Parts: sequence; structure tokens; C-alpha cells
Amino acid sequence: MKESECLFCRLKSDKTIILKQNSLFYSIYDINPTNLGHCLIIAKRHVISFFDLSGEEINNLYELIKELKKTMDQQFSPQGYNIGVNEGKVAGRTVDHLIIHFIPRYNGDVINPAGGMRNILKYKG
Ligand SMILES: [Zn+2]
Repeated sequence: MKESECLFCRLKSDKTIILKQNSLFYSIYDINPTNLGHCLIIAKRHVISFFDLSGEEINNLYELIKELKKTMDQQFSPQGYNIGVNEGKVAGRTVDHLIIHFIPRYNGDVINPAGGMRNILKYKG
């Protein structure tokens, strides 16, 4: 897919939906949130894999994650977070542009949160 055809490459210039940004990443609220404050951190460069990020991009990503945490802590006071990447189609990636899910967690939002992201594969038993 070309950059000009990529939704997430185009969204970076839509200031009305950007929650926070820095030079290499921007964040928006997920349109189909799994929890209050669920947002997406998106690379400004058209890159698909987390493993193709440069050292500078990793640093930028981490800075934005810390800023988002500050914002979420102030706005929604979550008690925890899940931060994750669907790396590869078998892991659930549905768009060919790197997205990092940033999901605030709250006491009681699931009956038993033990295991966190491990629960993704729980059905395997
Ligand atoms: Zn893109």
C-alpha cells in the first residue's frame, strides 16, 4: 500500500482528532475503545512493523507514552495500563501501518484481571 492510500498516514494532518503528538508519533482515541481512554499511538512515518523502528523513533514513542500516561492519569485516574502491538496478521494486525494500543485499566473492569495480555490466548486453554 502506498503512503497516499494509507488512512493512518493521512490522519496525521487532521489536527481535530489528534490527542497528543511529537515529531515522530501522534495519538488519537480509538473509535471502538475497549476501555475508557483507549487510544492509539501511530507512527508519522509509513512503517508497518514495530521491529522496523529506529532508535530515535523508539525514544519518541516512549516520550509520547509517558505524556499520554500523564494525561490519562489526570483525566481518568486509571489504576493500570496495557500497552500492546498487534505485530503481524497472525497477531491480529488489520492495517498495514504501525499502531500501538494504549489502554487504561480500572479496578473491576474485568472480573479477574490476572494475566493481563495473556488472556488474549486464554481460549486455547
Ligand atoms: Zn501509513
